Amino acid sequence: MHQIHLCFESQRNEIIEWLQSRYEVIKTIPQEAYGLFLVDSVSFERIVQCIRMIKNKNTHVYMPVILVSNRADLNKIENRFSGVVDEVLFEPIVITELRLRIEALLKAHEFSIKAKQLYENEIKLELQAKRLDNLSKNVPGMIYQFAVPNQGSTRFEYISNGCREIFDVEPEEAVKHPQLIISTVHPDERKDYENNLANAIQERRTWTWEGRYIIKGKTKWIKGASTPHAESYGFIWDGVMVDVTALKEAEENVRNLALYNEQIVENTNEGILVCDTGMHITTWNHALEKISGIPRSEVIGHHPLEFFQFLVTQRLHLQFEQALYGIAGQTKDYWYEFEKSGKSGWAKNLNIPLRNAKGEITGVLCTIDEITISKKAEEELKSMVTNLQNKNEELTKMNKELDNANDRLKNIDAIKSQFVSTASHEIRTPLTSILGFVQTLRAPGIKIPEGNRLEYLKIIENEAIRLSQLVESLLNISRLEAGKQELRRNVFFISELISAIRDTIHLEKRNINIIIVEKDSGQVSADSQQIELVIRNILNNAVRYTRPGGTIEVIISRTVKEVIVAIKDYGPGIPQDQLQAIFEKFYRIQKDRSTIGHGSGLGLSIAKEIIKAHNGRIWVESNVGEGSTFFFALPLGVNTG
Ligand code: ADP
Repeated sequence: MHQIHLCFESQRNEIIEWLQSRYEVIKTIPQEAYGLFLVDSVSFERIVQCIRMIKNKNTHVYMPVILVSNRADLNKIENRFSGVVDEVLFEPIVITELRLRIEALLKAHEFSIKAKQLYENEIKLELQAKRLDNLSKNVPGMIYQFAVPNQGSTRFEYISNGCREIFDVEPEEAVKHPQLIISTVHPDERKDYENNLANAIQERRTWTWEGRYIIKGKTKWIKGASTPHAESYGFIWDGVMVDVTALKEAEENVRNLALYNEQIVENTNEGILVCDTGMHITTWNHALEKISGIPRSEVIGHHPLEFFQFLVTQRLHLQFEQALYGIAGQTKDYWYEFEKSGKSGWAKNLNIPLRNAKGEITGVLCTIDEITISKKAEEELKSMVTNLQNKNEELTKMNKELDNANDRLKNIDAIKSQFVSTASHEIRTPLTSILGFVQTLRAPGIKIPEGNRLEYLKIIENEAIRLSQLVESLLNISRLEAGKQELRRNVFFISELISAIRDTIHLEKRNINIIIVEKDSGQVSADSQQIELVIRNILNNAVRYTRPGGTIEVIISRTVKEVIVAIKDYGPGIPQDQLQAIFEKFYRIQKDRSTIGHGSGLGLSIAKEIIKAHNGRIWVESNVGEGSTFFFALPLGVNTG
């Protein structure tokens, strides 16, 4: 049997009991011995298990194990005791030495733990230093430690590189001469700064400061904060100082911008209303106070429709709500009436959604432009323009009338020239004839037979009669055209007048039959002498163009308004294109020109003028080769039954 010596520093009794209950081989060990066992190699495995179990249970307690064995045995069990046995001895040793070894093992263990802890701490410190270094380098601003010792004067313990950037002073210099930093505080704020610092030190509390510093002639805004912690020799304030000049300037810009905006909103003539997304009024500018007559103190926080009831009646309020959904309205004119103040007028309104930098809708901007005066002016202008247009139209019309009158005058002038030349011609013809025969009769030394002389005198007489008739006709027509012919009206039956005329017509043995047919009788109120002239002129023409033995019909009829006379002959008729022209002065159908002796060409124009003066109508219907019918119509006289 091989002997194995095991040694335990603690749990000795526990193991001894456990071993004794199982293995007879274990010899009782003297009480003073430090866990020394004698174990055979078979039991060794169980003991190792047991030690492992105990060690696992008490990891915090170090339990040195020494194995005494011979080399041969060790080879067999070597692989099983690693991690369990601390030391292997190949020679038996005395108890005292064993004790020393155990103590040495315990000490060694203790040292190794301490060494490990020291190493770990060192690594931690290194890490912390590195971190601090990085922080002090990378954190914007200046990190510092300000010491207030129980004895002696205050000083900077540490100042980071940020000092260079903020105060333009090397950190080491600043540590040595704190005045380099403290003296840069703006003179106006120096006193406050010192009081503030003194209070913080005295009350051992966090120090905060924001103020102006003059650094190399330039003003900077610097913000600082530090918190105290206790040290053995006093207190240290750990702090940071940051240059906030840019921030301050930005703040100032924002403040200015807000101020400008406010001034713009307040000083514009346009009413401005702003609502938040909950439709609460947040802005109601001065112009709107004037337009509405309602002070802003009464509207802020209220719903706009409480004051803009008229928008509902004009269906414009929807625009308001739509703006909240991002729909910009269109400018609209409306008539407003603020019930609350009784103010009213014309306004131009526009509703626009308001958005923040992210594009989210934050409210509605509503502009209200008072346009009553301009609207009125616009309306006045409109009516002025319409008036001017009307005047212009009138002027154009007058111009046209003037043009027409001018044309008419020109026409009249031309007609007059034509008339004078035609009239002269008509007069010259008989005059030439008269003059010729008179000269012949009076020629000295020429003997004219009696028969011829009488014939010449007859011609002279006829021409003189014709001339006198012509002059009479000319006077007639000129009077009629000038409207100077006064109508001597009387009421009579036209059929009676026609019968009387028929009886006086010289038919010169031509055996012409004039038949009068009265279909309907009717009285007219007219100048009977003038109407007689009309009938005579027409009837004479009819007789002139009727072959001997022919018939002329005179038909009298009546409508509700007029008496119509038709004088119908069966003569040569008149070409269609000359039906109008024959009523003009001196007009004769071409081939009639040869039969000049028959008339002056004034008969029908005189008839036309007379009928016109009576508000009647005159016209002719004719077919060449079949005959002509001349009509005239006169309004019924008052006595007509
Ligand atoms: P005149 O004195 O030449 O008859 P009027 O004015 O009476 O002048 O008539 C104008 C012309 O109209 C005549 O010259 C003739 O050519 C034509 N005219 C008038 N009446 C008739 C008719 N009944 N039949 C055919 N032609 C006629």
